[in-house]
Amino acid sequence: MRRKLAAGNWKMNGGSVELGEIRTLMGRAATRQTDMLICPPATLIDRMRALLGDAPMAVGGQDCHTATSGAHTGDISAAMLVDAGASHVIIGHSERRQDHGETDATVRAKTTAAWNAGLIAVICIGETLQERENGQTLDVIGAQLSGSIPDEMTPATTVIAYEPVWAIGTGLTPSLEQIAEVHDFIRDQLGARFADGADGVRLLYGGSVKPSNAADIFAVSNVDGALVGGASLKAADFGAIIDAL
Ligand code: 13P
Repeated sequence: MRRKLAAGNWKMNGGSVELGEIRTLMGRAATRQTDMLICPPATLIDRMRALLGDAPMAVGGQDCHTATSGAHTGDISAAMLVDAGASHVIIGHSERRQDHGETDATVRAKTTAAWNAGLIAVICIGETLQERENGQTLDVIGAQLSGSIPDEMTPATTVIAYEPVWAIGTGLTPSLEQIAEVHDFIRDQLGARFADGADGVRLLYGGSVKPSNAADIFAVSNVDGALVGGASLKAADFGAIIDAL
């Protein structure tokens, strides 16, 4: 049985003020069976971890470099995320793929780096609107899966987030049938490639998840939780999404 996971991606949002929002989620964390993860900007990771104390909420980064250290101005290594208190890292978000030209090969290398540092990798995949309209969704997802996930994948070290690019921050979501089709496909693909453990990997849906659609999406087959952007910035909204799990 896979535990549900509610993950928030704050993206390039949040500072000292927003950090306080976390307090209202802490009590909820103590009483829920659902795993919770917040990925704030890197500047807040250590403060958020300190604020959370022993509360069973994980803190994650939003990206890491492939190298452990060195002359890479502005970048952060997986080991640095661990040092700051992170247990997870989002890798290959479509905004990284678009804004920073990250390829499946980059994502694969970053995932290995994350695992080597002891982090759980939340690997993101998803098709563009054009790819969906061209009927290429499953081809694109299949290629991203095989290109982005290293051979050493295990359920303990890996979460996969299906985030259609056209659903991110737009208020649009795929139909429940479309979400089911892709999640079932991902599960099948993992099963075909990884003899052990493919059943245990959690598959998150991401893209315009909000309190009003969360319960329906979470009822879809092979949806084990959500990666939430905008709605994770407000504790009330994120709390309502967690409740829907
Ligand atoms: P929104 O929930 O704002 O659509 O963002 C989704 C996302 O990109 C999470 O990583």
